[in-house]
Amino acid sequence: MDEYDKLTGLYTREAFCYHAEQRVKNNPEQKFDIVLSDFINFKHFNSRYGTEAGDWLLLKTGEMLSMDGNDAICGRYGADRFVSIVPHMDEAALSNLENFQLPEQAKDELPVFSIVVKFGVCADIDHNMPISVSCDRAYMAVQSVKHQYGRNLAVYDDDLGKAIHQELIIEENMKSALENNQFHVYYQPKMDISSETICGAEALVRWIHPTLGFMNPGIFIPLFEKNGFITSMDLFIWEQVCRDLSEWRDKGIALVPVSVNISRKDFNLHDLSDRIIHIVDWYHIDHSLFHLEVTESSYAENAEDIMKHINILHEAGFVIELDDFGSGYTSLSTLNDMNIDILKLDISLLQKDKPDSDRSVLNFAMQLARMMKLRTIQEGVETKEQLERLKALGCDCIQGYYYSKPLTKNQFEDFLTNRQLSSVL
Ligand code: C2E
Ligand code: CA
Ligand code: CA
Repeated sequence: MDEYDKLTGLYTREAFCYHAEQRVKNNPEQKFDIVLSDFINFKHFNSRYGTEAGDWLLLKTGEMLSMDGNDAICGRYGADRFVSIVPHMDEAALSNLENFQLPEQAKDELPVFSIVVKFGVCADIDHNMPISVSCDRAYMAVQSVKHQYGRNLAVYDDDLGKAIHQELIIEENMKSALENNQFHVYYQPKMDISSETICGAEALVRWIHPTLGFMNPGIFIPLFEKNGFITSMDLFIWEQVCRDLSEWRDKGIALVPVSVNISRKDFNLHDLSDRIIHIVDWYHIDHSLFHLEVTESSYAENAEDIMKHINILHEAGFVIELDDFGSGYTSLSTLNDMNIDILKLDISLLQKDKPDSDRSVLNFAMQLARMMKLRTIQEGVETKEQLERLKALGCDCIQGYYYSKPLTKNQFEDFLTNRQLSSVL
């Protein structure tokens, strides 16, 4: 085992763990924290300014960190990560850490402004636990703020531990979930507001796992978007919707358009539009019966790819719904740039609406849609009052618990069979 890291002269990871363990053993009454630091954007920095500049920055930062806590033991934990064991920190010490600045000299010599150092802390470590476990916890803590702008420090706690544990379980199970048909499509009816008849439905995924139970998408979709699995799941869901539609058609049930959600990550698939067309054609589903819900946030992230695919799909007769309109990402120019047919108003517009005020954003959104010749759907309608308000504002369709929660395939089939249909979408 190497005792010292060649570049920084600090302890190697293994040597750090050994010396930290000794420190804890020799001071059984004292409280200690493990602090793990991680650079954000270090890779970009390295590729832009060269590894020599990168090494120099690491060296300087290592020097600073090891001098900082005067009673600290410091090591290099991995490529651009450092670890230290320090006497238990109070709030003031934590706040100092959060405001850690890169070496002054580095700022003079290199354009390091885009680099940020973030810290994860495992506080008051358990003396009976191996140091490596406390390091892992500090590492999980720093990972949890890695992508949060403006937050540079996180302290490990049980909630974070549980959240990470849940993520691990989800990641372990996601592939087999697909193989074992654990993802189910639920259908939430969309109602024509004037005739109160069904005019469509949104397909919403549910994960039913034999031991983890019933899971709503809020639990797993953000993680799938992070690890890229979302696209495999979405392809599965789109095909399942086509299979259900063709089954209902074969039973002679009159169909309404069903919309599916497209994640912003799905647009990374270079042949996304071809894939969608292929799936829908395979089941001989009329393109106009397959609506695509695209969020504005995805447009902001990936405008070029989205425009390309949306144009192809629109041209091929698919109906495009702009989802979550008004949720905070709204840029009105999206409406001009994107080939959309339907504006789907975010639930927050309805919840925050002030019907008695003459400055209603909801009213504005409805008028805007009319001017742009877009049909409107309001989601999250829960009460009769909301329904009446939307009627008065000229909204075309509503979706929400007032009429129906998302239904299983069989429940939705009954709904379709027993209700009159509207062709407003
Ligand atoms: P979303 O696309 O905005 O879907 C609407 C959400 O509002 C659904 O939550 C729905 O169950 C819920 N909702 C419906 N009516 C009401 C109501 O009256 N009041 C309230 N408070 N909520 C209502 P759900 O099913 O939990 O889905 C959450 C999000 O997960 C969806 O938001 C969508 O972004 C995503 N999602 C769901 N299924 C899929 C999928 O198959 N693929 C992808 N990529 N995303 C999906
Ligand atoms: Ca949606
Ligand atoms: Ca929505």
